[in-house]
Amino acid sequence: MELTNTNENYFNPTSKLKSSPIPINFLPFNKNARYCFYCKNRYTWTQSLYQKCCENCFSQYVNNVDNNNTYLDVLIETRQSILCQEHEKSKNEMFITTCNIKEWCRNCLFIIYFKQIFADHYYFSNFRDYNPMKNCTLCGKLIYQTILTKGDIVFKLCSDCYLISSGWINSLNEKPILILYLPWWDNSDQCLVCNKYLDFISDCQKWCTRCYIIYSGCRYCLTTNIIFGLSDQSQCRKCNRILVISIADIMNITTSGNKDIDALLYDTRFKIKNDHKIINEISSIDITIPSNVYTFLRSNYTPSDYYSIMQWISYSQIKNLEKLAEGGFGIIYKAICPEKNKTIAVKRLKSSQKISRVFK
Ligand SMILES: [Zn+2]
Ligand SMILES: [Zn+2]
Ligand SMILES: [Zn+2]
Ligand SMILES: [Zn+2]
Ligand SMILES: [Zn+2]
Repeated sequence: MELTNTNENYFNPTSKLKSSPIPINFLPFNKNARYCFYCKNRYTWTQSLYQKCCENCFSQYVNNVDNNNTYLDVLIETRQSILCQEHEKSKNEMFITTCNIKEWCRNCLFIIYFKQIFADHYYFSNFRDYNPMKNCTLCGKLIYQTILTKGDIVFKLCSDCYLISSGWINSLNEKPILILYLPWWDNSDQCLVCNKYLDFISDCQKWCTRCYIIYSGCRYCLTTNIIFGLSDQSQCRKCNRILVISIADIMNITTSGNKDIDALLYDTRFKIKNDHKIINEISSIDITIPSNVYTFLRSNYTPSDYYSIMQWISYSQIKNLEKLAEGGFGIIYKAICPEKNKTIAVKRLKSSQKISRVFK
């Protein structure tokens, strides 16, 4: 009898894959990282799609993981011309291409690509040598209908094996925020909405300091949660693991200490923000082409111009206060904000301790 999850809300984004019993550490969360986060060896490129991978951590993973389940959607290949001594003996039984990582040999096998990795900012050159299998390696379903021509290929996933979902979670401001559960490992280093380079919090968390979007990856399932707001945790949809987000740095930058003010400041960050539309329509997007998801998100999220964004600056960040004028409601000062390297005007409101929620 097959074990089934009894939780009615259970949703498996990658039903043909099992959650790995040990963390998958050999893939960076930043596609442009040069050295392995764990062993500090230099990452190498996969043969196709220019994905980064640490061969050292990958061979350790292959040694430590059991043979019974499929944890990765990956393609590896032998090169007959450079077979190592051990494999030379069994040359005739050798496979050409396989997705069984236990067959991997550091000396004569190559990783062609990981199907579970997608970055929004793939460049055309990424696809130059991309020669994907026509059928899904996990379930056999035909993915590419037409004859493939190199250089003219889109990155496509199997519609049965990769499913997207979305929902709401509570933000730090206790407001519901949108969360998107991507069935792949998003290793981009740029924000999908504003293109700003992301700040990396850890080896599986990053965020945009402009849009306050957090990207949280699960190293056991290679899935990514995109959180459209600030939260201190999210849950992997596949293995239910709670991913705690180290928000100390985020809090330093973002919070005023008052939830209503924080929510108000957050809203100045976007010109367009259609969370409900995303929730309602994401299931109708053809996610077999992952770039469609990012295009759709961008059409529903437009960042404000830089000067329209309001940001909290705490009193301790303001230096050299110099009184300029005093009126009935407050006092105006000239001051310096060293972090912004700017001279600013500061208005101190009289009886500002009694400010109501609806600020007048
Ligand atoms: Zn490594
Ligand atoms: Zn070998
Ligand atoms: Zn499939
Ligand atoms: Zn952004
Ligand atoms: Zn997981």
